[in-house]
Amino acid sequence: MAETIKMLINGEWVESSSGEYFDSINPATGEVVARVPRATREDADRGVRAAYEAQKKWRRVPAPHRAEVLFRVARILEQRKEELARKLTQEMGKVIAEARGDLQEAIDMSYFAAGEGRRMHGMTAPVEMPNKFTMSVRDPVGVVAVITPWNFPTAIPSWKMMPALVAGNAVVFKPASDTPLLAYELVRALNDAGAPPGVVNIIYGSGSVVGDALLEHPLVNLVTFTGSSDVGRHVAEVAGRHLKRVSLELGGKNAITIMDDADLDLAVEGVLWSAFGTTGQRCTACSRVIVHEKVKKAFLDRLIPRVEALRLGNGLDPNTDVGPLVNASQLKTVDEYVQIGIKEGAKLLTGGHPVTDGELARGFFYAPTVFETTPDMRIAQEEIFGPVLSVITVKDLDEAIEVNNGVAYGLSSSIYTQDINKAFKAMRDLTTGIVYVNAGTIGAEIHMPFGGTRNTGNGHREAGHTLLDNVTEWKTIYVDFSGRLQKAQIDNPVSTL
Ligand code: NAD
Repeated sequence: MAETIKMLINGEWVESSSGEYFDSINPATGEVVARVPRATREDADRGVRAAYEAQKKWRRVPAPHRAEVLFRVARILEQRKEELARKLTQEMGKVIAEARGDLQEAIDMSYFAAGEGRRMHGMTAPVEMPNKFTMSVRDPVGVVAVITPWNFPTAIPSWKMMPALVAGNAVVFKPASDTPLLAYELVRALNDAGAPPGVVNIIYGSGSVVGDALLEHPLVNLVTFTGSSDVGRHVAEVAGRHLKRVSLELGGKNAITIMDDADLDLAVEGVLWSAFGTTGQRCTACSRVIVHEKVKKAFLDRLIPRVEALRLGNGLDPNTDVGPLVNASQLKTVDEYVQIGIKEGAKLLTGGHPVTDGELARGFFYAPTVFETTPDMRIAQEEIFGPVLSVITVKDLDEAIEVNNGVAYGLSSSIYTQDINKAFKAMRDLTTGIVYVNAGTIGAEIHMPFGGTRNTGNGHREAGHTLLDNVTEWKTIYVDFSGRLQKAQIDNPVSTL
């Protein structure tokens, strides 16, 4: 039975000013999981104005007390974890174990950001003049527009909202239209945890209507966006015209390199998990394997039967390995890329077609697919965001590094080797934001910086010790307690001794 959800604006649960609704669909079954108010530009404006007014007071609440809301939200999410994980699988499709992981990441981030309420360190430094003091402190940026994708319905919004809130910002959140229900649940938890009216607002609707309204709104100070590089470019252009701060976390084309000395069984496990976990719909998913020519055959002999044994199905079934793609358009994109690969002359090793057996016909399922390609083929260069893997053969580590770095994206990379010298060379020369050694390309932990190079973003990092950098401004303060005019760079205190 589908539930009907509402927007939160200024502490009140409201319908859209248009009175219109859209449906959120279970990608495994085609059933409607939620009816969702379709926001208008006016709703976006109301959300921003509410945030603007609320932030003036919220920024003055001492940070340790702002943090208490986040500690409470973490506990609420812990209590509701299993129920919300099931809803997440129903709305987005990922298998239940991964849905629990998504929630756990939101819980971890809430606790981690809450801890900043008692840190948020600034700094002091010596001053040039006697009887003078200087310090720099973090100030909130103001109103933060949070625009997120559907693949981590609670984790990614938490990465953005929790640091913003503890730092004293107010938020207007526009989630992806494929996962509004879980976004609603996250905001409901924040509201239940005691976030004051207007500090957190949520509106639902298309990027081109409400997303653009947020990008252009004069009272929005920061746009924090995670999504595709194409939309990210648009976000940067529009927000840039209005001189807003913009932080972008975008696409990936991540590779696992397997050297001739690698533990192949371990590498196969890492590739399976990284390439087909979340049905390949992770920004850090492995979509390329770069394998040394000496072990290519042995690796493929192990990999292909394991790929063919993956069980597709509804993510609520604990026996399912791979769930559906998120929607019909994603299924079509994946199939189009497979056809492009075949036309380019890539060798199809397994998969390459939608799966419509029995119950699966109701959802958006695609067979886990492996190609042998050259590095320059489109399927080995462009983000597909589905269960499609390109295997590329190289002769040595130098070539592997060149292939790894030779794409437009730079999020995550990995090397399997037993040779410490090769591992350190790779750590030095792989030009991605995240590097793994003897592990797949996925599995980031929230207390380390997250983000990528090249078209994966615009140089920011979320989480980790960089948690507050996106959501705060540095303010430098000088206090002169000499009781006279002192001129920095001009007066010389030594000469008066
Ligand atoms: P998307 O770019 O289509 O949409 C992301 C968000 O942008 C959605 O909320 C969407 O409604 C909104 N949007 C669309 N048009 C807009 C506009 N004109 N103005 C403002 N907002 C607009 O991405 P998606 O399909 O939801 O997610 C998949 C993409 O996200 C992949 O490219 C993936 O790599 C990327 N991603 C990156 C990371 C990361 O941390 N680097 C993490 C997860 C996903």
